[in-house]
Amino acid sequence: MKKTYNIAIDGPAGAGKSTIARRVAGELGFIYVDTGAMYRAMALCFLRMGADLKDQELVGEQCGKIKVDIRYADGVQQVLLNGENVTDQLRAEEVGNAASTISAYPAVRAALLELQRNLAASSNVIMDGRDIGTLVLPDADCKIYLTASTRVRAVRRYKELEAKGEIRSLEEIEKDIIDRDNRDMNRDTAPLRQAEDAVYLDASAMTIDQVVERIKDLAAERGLEV
Ligand code: C5P
Repeated sequence: MKKTYNIAIDGPAGAGKSTIARRVAGELGFIYVDTGAMYRAMALCFLRMGADLKDQELVGEQCGKIKVDIRYADGVQQVLLNGENVTDQLRAEEVGNAASTISAYPAVRAALLELQRNLAASSNVIMDGRDIGTLVLPDADCKIYLTASTRVRAVRRYKELEAKGEIRSLEEIEKDIIDRDNRDMNRDTAPLRQAEDAVYLDASAMTIDQVVERIKDLAAERGLEV
């Protein structure tokens, strides 16, 4: 079987990973795999149950019974939670924070690992997350660590929320981002860090187009035939 080409993008929340990865996927004809959405679906399930997310034993016990699946509709990732399409319910702030809490538990990560690896083995993918280059796809052909300053990320988030009619103070948003970074970077299991062979890209002063072009160039340098 022909080996698939895998691009791994890791980095903190709000660095633009999903926007960039979606664009790169579209231009290269790859599948975009958003692993954060899988953790969010799992978190949504626990929120619906009214479970205490801090109860690691309970979450660990239950997560094996929850079925998260991925489908593609016109190239767009759809997330199924126990068969229900929950894609539209995953972006809420509450769900993101809950995902950040439960994703620190080894049992939750183990429950989603196979799904992620199977997708990468069966298609050319660009997969984004926190531990893709370090743990999920250590042999990925091209690894990127994409980041931006906390202020730049907070301003982007502010604008996203504003567009949805939600007004929150920039300081508050920036504090949330710093807290989330701390949780993601300092947990014992699969902390967010740059893989040794990943290329560090600080997108604070780059446009989306520039980042997309840079990643396509890096993939071409790393054996992708276009
Ligand atoms: O990327 P996104 O904001 O959708 O991810 C939500 C949360 O899920 C992150 O804050 C992170 O804690 C967790 N996550 C993870 N590993 C991944 C993807 C997301 O721990 N590969």
